[in-house]
Order: sequence, then structure tokens, then C-alpha cells
Amino acid sequence: AGVIRFEDVHFSYDPDRAILRGISFEVPAGRTIAIVGPSGAGKSTISRLLFRFYDVGAGRITIDGQDIRDVTQASLRQRIGMVPQDTVLFNDTIAYNIRYGRPSASEAEVREAARMAQISDFIERLPKGFDTEVGERGLKLSGGEKQRVAIARTILKAPPILMLDEATSALDTHTEREIQTALDQVSLNRTTLVIAHRLSTVVNADEIIVLEHGVIVERGRHQDLLDHG
Ligand code: ADP
Ligand code: ADP
Repeated sequence: AGVIRFEDVHFSYDPDRAILRGISFEVPAGRTIAIVGPSGAGKSTISRLLFRFYDVGAGRITIDGQDIRDVTQASLRQRIGMVPQDTVLFNDTIAYNIRYGRPSASEAEVREAARMAQISDFIERLPKGFDTEVGERGLKLSGGEKQRVAIARTILKAPPILMLDEATSALDTHTEREIQTALDQVSLNRTTLVIAHRLSTVVNADEIIVLEHGVIVERGRHQDLLDHG
């Protein structure tokens, strides 16, 4: 389940300036579709429409055949998981922070999510940065480690659909590779829409959609797009 369809979607924030002009694509169940394109192309607008921060001007967006205008924002947030760029951690163990994704999860499930996100080594530690004294168990987490905690949380929560926005990641290559591995785990067999800046981060996508000035200018698999330059 979890098929997303954009059908001839048009959208503008201001009446005199079209932002999306006839966008159509489908994210089949369990597949990963990536949207790439230069800054200002309309990528984030697509994710805002999917969460109904705005409604489409023309055309429609459906999930499993249902027009999302008939679905509440709260229900969309339940169905579509998002790994935030900037993760808020609670003043408790990393394991607790992972469990926040689904409080009913078992110990084993928390450990498995941590393993997939490659943070098994420190789940019993406490994130530093709060006023309280954490002593020996305290651990200062890097941005990349925090993001992997967020990924573990999302793995545990297991939403049917995943929306990944890679736009603002400013990470070093090593960290980026670790995060990529973790994200590949969370999107495995899950309907996933990725918003990406560069083609290099979406090599494994089932389809890449290239967006420019609100229109799809190219689409295909990574290798096809490279062949055409
Ligand atoms: P991308 O994610 O590809 O960088 P966006 O979807 O954020 O592009 O933005 C597409 C266009 O819409 C840009 O020209 C941007 O300036 C404009 N835009 C974004 N948000 C708003 C807004 N709230 N009001 C008016 N224009 C906006
Ligand atoms: P939901 O209410 O379905 O969890 P949200 O949009 O509120 O969806 O949250 C998106 C993700 O951000 C959630 O998966 C959750 O793990 C995380 N999150 C939400 N609120 C907080 C918070 N106060 N602190 C840390 N993480 C949060």
C-alpha cells in the first residue's frame, strides 16, 4: 500500500507566478522515486503539497487512489514519515529517543532499528547539551549522529510512506555515506519520495524526475540520465 500519484498538478503561491506547471508522476508501492533539480525548481513545494500545507491549484494528488483533499493533515502525518534535517533530542538515553518513534516497541525492535541506522554502539548513552550533569554516560552527538537517531526513530515507527528531503544536508563525505546507508535501510520496500540536490545521492532510485522551473524536463533511471548528459 501507499501509492502516491500526482496528476497534472499546478500550483502557485501568488496568482501571477506559476510554481508547478502540470506535474505528473507516480510512486508505486514499495518503490523509491527521486526529484532532483536546481534550487527554486519547486521540489520543496511538492513535499508541502503532499502534506497539504497548501492545496493544489489544479490537478490532483492521490494516495492509494484517494484524493488527499479528503484526508486530514494529521492523518497524512501518520501515514507519511519524514526524517527531519534537524532532530530534536530528549534529555534521556538514545534508546529512549529512538523509542519515541513507537513507544510500544520491544527492546529487541529498538536494538534492531539502532543496528540498521548504525548507532548500536551508543544507545545507552545520554546526549550532551542539556543543563543536567550526564557524567560518564554523556555523549556529544555530531549532526550526522543525530540524524541517524532520527532515522532509527523512523525505522521503528515504520510509516507506510517515506518522504526524504536531502536538500540542506551539509555533511562531510564519510558522514554522508553512513547516512545514505541508513536511509537505504529505512526506504527498503517502502514507498519513498526523495527530494535531492544531486544525482549522486539517488543512484538507486527506481525513477529520477528532473524538475526545472516547475516542469519535468527529464525522467529515467540514474544511468539513463547520465547517458544523456
Ligand atoms: P526548491 O525546493 O526546488 O528549491 P521551492 O519549492 O522551495 O524550490 O520553491 C519554488 C519557488 O517557489 C521558488 O521560486 C520560491 O522562491 C517560491 N516560493 C517558495 N515558497 C514560497 C512562498 N511561501 N511564497 C511565495 N513563493 C514561494
Ligand atoms: P507524528 O505526530 O506522526 O509523529 P510529526 O510531524 O509530529 O508526526 O513528527 C515527525 C517526526 O518528528 C516524528 O516521527 C517524530 O519522531 C519526530 N518528532 C515530532 N515531535 C518531536 C519532538 N517534540 N521532539 C523530537 N522529535 C519529534
